[in-house]
Amino acid sequence: MENTAHFTSGTTGAVDTEILVKILCVDDQRSNLVALDVALRDSNYQLVQVGSGSEALKELAQSDFAVILLDVQMPVLDGYQTAKLIRQTERARHTPIIFLTANYPTDAHVSKGYQAGAVDYLFKPLNIEVLRAKIAVFADLFKTKVDIRELKKTEKALRQAVKVRDEFLSIASHELKTPVTPLQLQMEGIVRLMEQGKLQSLPAERLKVMVAISKAQVMRLCRVIDQLLDASRIGEGRFSIQTEPVHLNEIISSALEQLQLAIDAADCTVRLEVEPGILGNWDRFKLEQLVVNLLTNALKYSPGRPIAILGSSTPTQAVLAVTDQGIGIAPEDHVRIFERFERAVSSKNYGGLGLGLYISKQIVRLHQGEISVRSEPGKGATFVVKLPKNPDFELQERQECQTNL
Ligand code: ADP
Repeated sequence: MENTAHFTSGTTGAVDTEILVKILCVDDQRSNLVALDVALRDSNYQLVQVGSGSEALKELAQSDFAVILLDVQMPVLDGYQTAKLIRQTERARHTPIIFLTANYPTDAHVSKGYQAGAVDYLFKPLNIEVLRAKIAVFADLFKTKVDIRELKKTEKALRQAVKVRDEFLSIASHELKTPVTPLQLQMEGIVRLMEQGKLQSLPAERLKVMVAISKAQVMRLCRVIDQLLDASRIGEGRFSIQTEPVHLNEIISSALEQLQLAIDAADCTVRLEVEPGILGNWDRFKLEQLVVNLLTNALKYSPGRPIAILGSSTPTQAVLAVTDQGIGIAPEDHVRIFERFERAVSSKNYGGLGLGLYISKQIVRLHQGEISVRSEPGKGATFVVKLPKNPDFELQERQECQTNL
């Protein structure tokens, strides 16, 4: 007998979503329920019909109703008792109740009804026009309330988004500014030496150090900018790979070469145990970026301690593991840290945008591989990357087409 339909919000026009207007009809006489069903059938309401007060309470505990049409004369729990119990529930304490009564009530009855929480009375036999008009008012009221609730939720989500953006801007500015200060100092030093005519006589070793410091800062700056660009490419669906046959140890060697200065600065040793001849159809530069990201984290979160890079393979898969002995990561953060801007350390203690692992995960995903972490706080971390040697891009394309259909 249920008449399910959706009521499209139009009263406030504020939130353009469908709002389901549910009406609860409570009557022990089936013929009365049928009459209500007929009267409201063509309207955009979902009628839920029950034959007793206790069933009504069960329904009201499960969902929000726009209005309750409640028969006064029912066995066990009558309409007044049911209304009192409804008013004591958390969910339905403010749901409007219209009493349906066969007898024209005395003033005493009416007052009892209003005390029990009724907002109106309707007399049987029901005048359909009046019934529809009253229900329409309560339906509009209900929609307005839902609209306001949704608006408040949207406003809260927007505020949160603005807060995240502001925090991100402040962290990003800090990350961009950090390498610039030492770079500026080196530049000013060189300019001063030039002005004083002392540059020619500067020992080559000293100049080398100044250039090395500047180079490291420029690289750091480039890394931050690259991360920001990659994150925006991922967001726009423009992050892609170009594969070619490449050896895993070549990728690792280039990453180590890039990071040599940083490895020295962090006072770390890197143990390399990579099976020779692990060849895959991969994006050389993106995988280099992945290894750089994992190593940079190992250096940052485990300075002064040994790092190990292990590479092994099966006939179809390569496995790369980067292990450090640093601060470690709590198990509840193991999944979250691969998401955008997610960090498991305070920005007071460690710089970073929270993008390295997010980008790394996208690189691995594009290669149809997996990345995970094994770690406990204080006991170091091992990041494990599993890569198919020959990703099947045609299969991936077919699957994506199917999901889009
Ligand atoms: P960032 O290092 O810039 O914060 P990442 O995306 O590279 O961003 O890492 C996300 C978070 O994961 C880090 O903030 C840190 O809490 C944690 N993390 C990553 N690598 C390590 C590691 N080797 N040891 C301990 N924590 C790590």
